Amino acid sequence: MITLYVLGSGSRGNCCAVESEGMALLIDAGFSAREVERRADAAGLELGRVAGIVLTHEHGDHACGAPLLSRRLHVPVLTAPGTWRHLASGMDEAEHRQLGLCAGVELGPFTIEACPTSHDAAEPLAIVVRGSEGASVGVAYDLGRPTTAVRYLLRNLTAIVLEANHDEVQLRTSEYPPVVQRRIAGSAGHLSNRAAAELLAELHHPGLRAVVLAHLSEQCNTAAEARATVAPALRRAGFRGTLHVADQDRPLAPILVVQRAGIQLGLAL
Ligand SMILES: [Zn+2]
Ligand SMILES: [Zn+2]
Repeated sequence: MITLYVLGSGSRGNCCAVESEGMALLIDAGFSAREVERRADAAGLELGRVAGIVLTHEHGDHACGAPLLSRRLHVPVLTAPGTWRHLASGMDEAEHRQLGLCAGVELGPFTIEACPTSHDAAEPLAIVVRGSEGASVGVAYDLGRPTTAVRYLLRNLTAIVLEANHDEVQLRTSEYPPVVQRRIAGSAGHLSNRAAAELLAELHHPGLRAVVLAHLSEQCNTAAEARATVAPALRRAGFRGTLHVADQDRPLAPILVVQRAGIQLGLAL
């Protein structure tokens, strides 16, 4: 079982955590250390249990709290090599562990797997964390487009945190200049609600228990719009789990990610 904490998500900061067997991992630390501490406290996550900080990429909304948090918590920072080259000079003496693209990295009860994403950062990753009893959580945001590698990484998971950044009509009619609109909608930008719905319908399998829509644009999306686009697609695919929408300003209630009895995930598929 894994407990998933979504402490906040959006262009002003992203941070979630997984906890299993009394240990936890932060996945991105895109708020100040103090804000992560405040939100963890509000959500009931004990930061003293954190064994490492996984960063998807170096952008401030994913990494700004990592230097101070890694120092305060005395934990390693896990990133792709290219991400670390961007961050290392500001990380003091933080221990770095490289996320491998071939083999999973083990830390406490967790195995962390990763794959490259299409986004305008040095070496951005989507992340999967496997915990005890077969439960698994994928985190994928800042996805320009869902590549084959991302689709492969996110298959057969118990829970998925996936970007649903913008409503395509709201983006086209927004006050963003055309060049910015093209960057957001482009293959190195962000996933729309419709693209997220299509990807989730494709990734759906009977063991998928929870979906969290994340990294919503404040200018070009609303929680209601994202849910209204994704929920019918998931329903049509046969989804029986829970659908959540991450909030920029406050943590969600902790989500219990439990593999359903009788479903063998990741075996012979
Ligand atoms: Zn980014
Ligand atoms: Zn971002």
